[in-house]
Amino acid sequence: MEKGQLQRQRGWQTSKGGSPDQSDMARLHKLAPRITSSSPRIGSTVGDSRAHDRNREARAPWRKWYRTARWSRLRLKIFERDLFQCQMPGCGHVEGNLSKLVCDHKKPHRGNERMFWDEDNLQTLCKPCHDSLKQRQERADG
Ligand SMILES: [Zn+2]
Repeated sequence: MEKGQLQRQRGWQTSKGGSPDQSDMARLHKLAPRITSSSPRIGSTVGDSRAHDRNREARAPWRKWYRTARWSRLRLKIFERDLFQCQMPGCGHVEGNLSKLVCDHKKPHRGNERMFWDEDNLQTLCKPCHDSLKQRQERADG
């Protein structure tokens, strides 16, 4: 049913090439509250953790890019390129256990698709280095 609303929305946005007239504005005002009020509170009222995850994903759609085959291939490629060695200056730990390696974005991609998939923006880190790096970054971001 949410899909229907979206399609209707798109319909009146694209079908009229000209400037919106009075009736379009009136429809916009009637439609808008239904579209916006339906979603925001789902997770908080139920306390359902899966709903919570869905909300997180809606806010950060790039999270699911980590679950794609493309990402697991790219991650492996980066590990191989870096010879399974942590790229943190002063560490240089070589780790054969891939679950203890992290394919890290040097510059935070913040949902930017180009930066997310950019091999030059990716590096191999061992888990301890990655975790302490992220902790420092989060503190710096506030
Ligand atoms: Zn390291």
